[in-house]
Amino acid sequence: MSRRTGNLKRVFSRLFKERQIYHRSDGVVHFISMSAQTQIAFAVVALGALLWVAYASVNVVFKEQIIVAKERERLVMQTNLSKRLNEAKTAYDDIAYLNHTYKRQFDETMDDIWARHRVLTNMVDRKAAIDQKLNLQAEGLSAAGGPNGQKPVNGNRVMIDVAPGEATPRQSRVSILRKEAATEARERNEGSEESGDAAQSINLMEKAAAELYSEQMMLIAAIEEKTEQRISELRQVISSTGVDPDTLITPAKISNISLAQGGPFIEPGSEATLPTRYYAHANRVAASVDELEALQGVLHHLPLSSPLTVNRRMTSGFGVRRDPINGKHASHHGVDFSAPWASPVTATAAGVVHFAGTRSGFGRVVEIDHGNGFVTRYAHMNRIKVRRGQTVELHDQVGELGNSGRSTGPHVHYEVLYKKRPVNPRRFIEAGRYVFES
Ligand SMILES: [Zn+2]
Repeated sequence: MSRRTGNLKRVFSRLFKERQIYHRSDGVVHFISMSAQTQIAFAVVALGALLWVAYASVNVVFKEQIIVAKERERLVMQTNLSKRLNEAKTAYDDIAYLNHTYKRQFDETMDDIWARHRVLTNMVDRKAAIDQKLNLQAEGLSAAGGPNGQKPVNGNRVMIDVAPGEATPRQSRVSILRKEAATEARERNEGSEESGDAAQSINLMEKAAAELYSEQMMLIAAIEEKTEQRISELRQVISSTGVDPDTLITPAKISNISLAQGGPFIEPGSEATLPTRYYAHANRVAASVDELEALQGVLHHLPLSSPLTVNRRMTSGFGVRRDPINGKHASHHGVDFSAPWASPVTATAAGVVHFAGTRSGFGRVVEIDHGNGFVTRYAHMNRIKVRRGQTVELHDQVGELGNSGRSTGPHVHYEVLYKKRPVNPRRFIEAGRYVFES
């Protein structure tokens, strides 16, 4: 037995030694004897009761607290859950918004590229249509040849220094255009600063778009260059006739056809307010195409051919000469061509017949109004093959070569009148040789 148990036993036997409780009633003293065991039993019962009370109270109090705690925990969980739900919803919304934004950005870029493409194809188509008309006229003029029927020789094209004194060489012009396109692409997407994968995709798209923009810019520039070159050549052809091309195409310049028929030359999309460089450039090129079209129209009605396409000889020039009939010096207002009798005399440009009949001195004569102040006259014919008011195209037959009127032999007397004044037809025929070469 340990000392500890010995001690406990001593404490117990001191606490619970046998006790007698005395009490007096009716003068008689009684006593109750309580053994140690009884005392222990009482103490155990008392302690048990005390513990139960304590447990019960504590339990009641704590239960309350547990409920409160659990409630709080539930609330926290619920709050957390709804918070997380909200976060998820926001994230979803963000993604949806970003998708929407990117989709919109993508669609806008695609729409823009297509709109630019349409402008481009529109311009290419217009230029092609003009070129086709020019080629048609050039083929006709080429077939007719020079004043004496000379066929074109390679190398007799008009020598034109296109855009003389252009400061920037071609290479730097290309790089300028690339830079312009890149700047434009950047400006377009300013303010859409995103981060992460999405941004990378957007960057890729922007890069691709910028490349397309610069390609389109380059194509526009190429069209511009070709158009400008053609304009210079045609202006040169017209100038060589002695007529200032500006007096002939001024109305077309003022009306600016491009805005009426050139298509969507206004920046598409509602958010855009300022026209981009591309559209500014496109408008400029469209104006050039307008000018080319106007020049083509002028050229189409300019008498650049000889009135005979068959073998012929120019027998008399324009200006002062000795009159073949009376031998006196006189002004010859046209040029004479000799060719076999009844050779077809043809219109030297498109126009409308405004006289077909006999005139004193001219014999059987046809006059064609070409517009722009130009009239051509075909005289001394054997037969007339057109009526007044009839529309003719280049090289349509107007009559047969003859000897009617004041004539010494079969020939055609041909005149070009500009604003009712005779001009030298030879200059026009010579100029015509350059059309098919340009
Ligand atoms: Zn004559």
